[in-house]
Formats: sequence, C-alpha cells, structure tokens
Amino acid sequence: MSSAVKTLKQLSAQLQSRQVSAVELAKEALTHIENKRHLNAFLDVQADLTLAQARTADAAISAGSASALCGIPIAHKDIFVTQGWKSTAGSKILQNYVSPFNATVVEKLQTAGMVCVGKTNCDEFAMGGSGENSAYGPTLNPKDETAVPGGSTSGSAAAIAAGIVPAATGTDTGGSIRQPASFCGLTGIKPTYGRVSRYGMIAFASSLDQAGPMAHTAEDCALLLNIMAGFDPRDSTSLERSAEDFTRLMPQAFSELKGLRIGVPVEFMDEGVATEVREVVEAAIQQLEGLGAKRVEVHLPRNSLSIPAYYVIAPAEASSNLSRFDGVRYGHRCENPKDLLDLYMRSRAEGFGPEVKRRILVGTYVLSHGFYDAYYKQAQKLRRLIAQDFKNAFEQCDLILGPVAPTTAWNLGDKADDPVANYLADIFTLGPSLAGLPAMSVPAGIGAQSRRPVGLQIIGNYFDEARMLAVADAFQKAHQ
Ligand code: GLN
Repeated sequence: MSSAVKTLKQLSAQLQSRQVSAVELAKEALTHIENKRHLNAFLDVQADLTLAQARTADAAISAGSASALCGIPIAHKDIFVTQGWKSTAGSKILQNYVSPFNATVVEKLQTAGMVCVGKTNCDEFAMGGSGENSAYGPTLNPKDETAVPGGSTSGSAAAIAAGIVPAATGTDTGGSIRQPASFCGLTGIKPTYGRVSRYGMIAFASSLDQAGPMAHTAEDCALLLNIMAGFDPRDSTSLERSAEDFTRLMPQAFSELKGLRIGVPVEFMDEGVATEVREVVEAAIQQLEGLGAKRVEVHLPRNSLSIPAYYVIAPAEASSNLSRFDGVRYGHRCENPKDLLDLYMRSRAEGFGPEVKRRILVGTYVLSHGFYDAYYKQAQKLRRLIAQDFKNAFEQCDLILGPVAPTTAWNLGDKADDPVANYLADIFTLGPSLAGLPAMSVPAGIGAQSRRPVGLQIIGNYFDEARMLAVADAFQKAHQ
C-alpha cells in the first residue's frame, strides 16, 4: 500500500474533524472516474445522486449523528441492484435496467452514510475470472494496464487500485473477490456462505454466491463487513447469527499468532504453481512463522476435482436462475417478434454473451433427464467430499494458507478465446466456495518475473472471519 493511499479509518478521522467534507471526497472521486475512463472500471455514474448522498452525509456529520464510515465514497459491483443507478450485471440483456429497490448490502452501506459513486464493470453475470467477459468491454488493471485485473469483480478492484475509491463491494461465487484482489494488489474477503445477504444480488449460482468487501487493508475490510453482514429475512439462506465486530481480535493479533497452526496444503504448492507465485507465498508463510505461527502440512486430496464439480454445479444453477431473462419481464426485447417463442429465442440470443450462453447450455445439459445422474448428482457428491477434506484439514490447523491463483495477472487477450484456460486459474479458489468457507486474499508481494502483484489466500473455518482478518492485519502491519 503506497503512503498516498488513505485507509477508511484515516478518511473517517478527516471527515469527523471536518478537514474534508463528504461532498469534496465525492467530487474528487467523480473527477478521478472521468480522468480514468480508459480503465473501463465504471458502467454507470450519476453525479447528482452521488452529491445528494454526500450532502446528506455532511449533514449527519455536522449533526454529530454520523456512524464511523459516513461520508466515505464507495463503488458497487454492477451485480447489486441499486435505485437510481442502472443495474446490468455486465450484460446487454439488462442494458438500461433500473431496479425499483436496493440490494440489502447497498441499503446497509447507504444507511451507514457511505456515498455511492457508481456501479462497477464486471464479467457478465459474474461469469469469468479475467474481467474480459463484460458486454461493455474489458476492464484494465491499473497496476499494469496491459494485464487483466482479474474477475469477475474487475471494476471494483480497478477502481480501488487506481485510487478512485478506498473501498468497493464485490461478489464471489468461485473466487471473484479474491482473484481480482490478488491481481490488483488489494485485500478482499468472501465471508462464510450465508453471512451476508444475497437479496438484490443478481443471481449466478445461488448456493455459492456470496458478497464481500474489497479495500486496501484487512482492517478496512473488517469495518465494511461489520456493516454488510447480518441476518436478512428476505434471503432464505441468510444465517441467523448475532452481530459481530470483525476488528475485535486485531488489537491482540500478534499474540493470536503465537502458536497459531497454519496449514499449508501440499496440493497448493506443487509444480502447477508459477515459481514466482510460490516464492512470494512461501516468503509470506515464513514471515508468519517468524511472528510465532506454527506451520503444518495438510492435504486437500480432492482439490483438483473442485474444477469439474464447480463447472457443473455453477452452470446448472445459472441455467435455472437466468431463465427469468425472457424478454418479457426485464431488459432487452428483440424487435418485431413473430410469436412468443421467437421473442424468447431472439431476445436471449441477442442479450446474452458467449460465456453466458455456454454456461446455460452446459447447465441445461447436466440437469436434463438421462444426464442428471451422470453429471449433476456426481458433482454434488464431489462437493460433499471436497468439504469433508477441508473439515479433515481443519482438525490439524486453525487457518489454511496458500496462493489465490497459480499465476499473477495474465496479459489482456491471452486467454480470451480459451474458456478452459480461464477455468483452470480457479483451482485454488473454488474449493472454499464449494465448501461455503470464508476465504480472503491479502497482498503478499510482487512476482519476480512478471512484476505483478501476488495474493496470499487465507482460508478459515466457518465463521472464523474475525481471526482471519486479524492475522491478515498483523501480516500487513509487519509487512509494511
Ligand atoms: N471464475 C469463476 C467463474 O468463472 C468464478 C466467478 C465468480 O466467483 N463469480 O465462474
């Protein structure tokens, strides 16, 4: 993190002491968005709405009734529906769609006084790992504009890495918060499945989708998660857990590290991982050992099967979720349909991009009569076994550490025509998603060959976010 970057805590202190106003911060962010248009990080910006929110925040600060993050700018991934801003999910089928309500996550952050500066670009319906699958064009990586920013939360990552906003929301179905955080040198956390409401998140694969924050530091992510998490009766998979302070273990994080058992799966450090990634991750683990953690070798023997399992289950759920886009109820409708079937077929053919179509076809196939047992049912069995492997590993350790991705960010265009090459890059992020475990990415260094950021992945046991964030915080403080 460069010294010019301000954390949420610093911004909050400046706002509370009136060194800066929410309106000034909002205007600065809007100007940055304009100056950095070429990154293609934003899909919709509505300056009037942003400034109105900023004025409300300033009034609350003046009245002394503001919460800690009031007045701080934030951007939302275009998967979250928002009143006022368009919500497209990066798809042409939802071009110009404006939701009549806010997603719970958006509503909560807005109620806390955070100022929305716009909606960020993403892979269409969050399907992708490079940020190149958006119907509105690829996002660039601000750390190296010839590289992909990672996906699918590409615009949020680029907006933070470019210094436009200090924080943004993301969603992670199989790695979409962790991988762009890793590629752009940021911190991002996918909480335990069910921690954060999915209400108003445009659905991709409902049993995997989970929202989370992205920012520069673990402490900032914890502050954001404090607001985002919590039971929501409008999401049937939301968990009834009482509120938690995710920063609570940070003051004693260094003592937490003493004797902490960090499990390093052998399968995460084999020859499939680029040497430069392995070197940085290895150095990070050694640094944590230096702070008192104990390294334990663990095994996740079925990790490689997470790719076929995920790429059956996620498309199956997507094929069902995306059936609602029929040209009748939302978004794009074809011109002059001959009849109802023609309206469905042409609206969908015109509205969906190639990766989305591919997944709808795969999903429909694996759910169809005669193939269900061979594919979908088998994938569900694998999912259970993969979760069991994590359970076994957590009997020997407290946290699991490894790389986020086998390589650093690749060049724009390099894998654009090769879906399988993209899927293989998810090898370390899919397992925790299938198991519903919390997992995060923390910047660990720069790859010696590519000179691009490398993220350290920290996977926790269910509901162990506070400890993960505290360890990440201690690492970041020791690493500075
Ligand atoms: N890269 C994975 C995919 O393409 C994960 C995406 C996500 O987490 N939304 O499905």
